[in-house]
Amino acid sequence: MEKRYRLLFIGVAGDEGHFRAELQAKGVQDRLIDQMFELAPVIIKQGLSLAQARHYADMLRAMGAKITILDDQGAPRARQSKDAPLVTPMSEFVPCPQCGLVQPEGSVCYRCGADLSSCSRNGGQRVAGH
Ligand SMILES: [Zn+2]
Repeated sequence: MEKRYRLLFIGVAGDEGHFRAELQAKGVQDRLIDQMFELAPVIIKQGLSLAQARHYADMLRAMGAKITILDDQGAPRARQSKDAPLVTPMSEFVPCPQCGLVQPEGSVCYRCGADLSSCSRNGGQRVAGH
């Protein structure tokens, strides 16, 4: 079984405006960026291979973010199937169906504890590839 990793966004090392602009250039919405800052430190990606984790971490660090790669092992995970599609950075943010908090996709809402897995499957925009 391959080990999985997740990315923890801690904050911005340099200019926040620069980081914001870089994310916007990737198509990330302003309010999601706001929430990344609000929720930080926050898991922004999970279920990654080490190569993927390093790739994303390097990319985000190049934008000025402070990123830590965490071992995903031992954590409860909603999806563990090996055919889970790869996703583009930041595409896993989903709004809570109950309270509306936009957050990295997970099993439950950070704020109200609502089940997020149902809504992420319908609305999630997933891009397979590498
Ligand atoms: Zn909620």
